[in-house]
Amino acid sequence: MEKKDILGITYFSDYLKPSQIVYDLEAKDKVQAIEELLDILAKQKLIRNKKLILTRLIDRESLDSTALGEGIAVPHARVDTGGEIAVAVGRSEKGIEFDAADKKKVQLIILVVWNPTLPGLFNHLFAGLAQFLRKSEFRQRAFQAKDKNDLYNVLSEIELRLPQEDKIVSRASLLKKLQEVEMKKRKAPKAQLKTLQAQASYIREELDQALLARFDKLMERYGFAVAEVDDGACQGCNINVSTQMSSAIEGSNDIYVCENCGKYLVAAKKKKK
Ligand SMILES: [Zn+2]
Repeated sequence: MEKKDILGITYFSDYLKPSQIVYDLEAKDKVQAIEELLDILAKQKLIRNKKLILTRLIDRESLDSTALGEGIAVPHARVDTGGEIAVAVGRSEKGIEFDAADKKKVQLIILVVWNPTLPGLFNHLFAGLAQFLRKSEFRQRAFQAKDKNDLYNVLSEIELRLPQEDKIVSRASLLKKLQEVEMKKRKAPKAQLKTLQAQASYIREELDQALLARFDKLMERYGFAVAEVDDGACQGCNINVSTQMSSAIEGSNDIYVCENCGKYLVAAKKKKK
């Protein structure tokens, strides 16, 4: 297979063909949906090891749902695919329960598996996807696509670009999860340590190296690295963050940095009304 220059690739359609889209998923639940999409990829010889990949995807889901909210999920795993990267898209009119934070059923599933020999690829891909999928106008067009080719045309518009350095796209919940796992590791009995270690390494595989280096430094120095913003104040240092930043963080899954204490900032969990 010809080696591609990852950074030179600019459109999602470079990874996706209409034959990798299931316009009307038969699946009734999350696991079935993932399996249905993997079957498509296996049939087209875009993956080998279907069983292994399925296990990895489900393990990843049980760690932290890959539902982005607003009816979209991006199940993914960094695993030996037998190829480089494989993408499949499934649509469900009725929607599938995906444990989304916003409780909405998922109508569009974008499944991505990629080979561990391609570091950084996922961030590249994910940043592009997230940027498009958060536009409601774009989501509506994807949901309303009238057939497979129509959906393909909408998805083909997605441009892939590297995340900006000052703002890491859509990884806040994952970074927070990593902190939880690292904290549990400190006082976990030996029997649990292995599971926690595996969870931590799954998460780390998806996050940027520079981000992780800073995370580890903060963990070492302060015992934690991620602070919530509650009522406009960083809970790491109790100093107010700028109103602009505070409102940007609200309802977003992007990662920001506290200008005062340097910790990563995430939105506080919404209190139930
Ligand atoms: Zn702070």
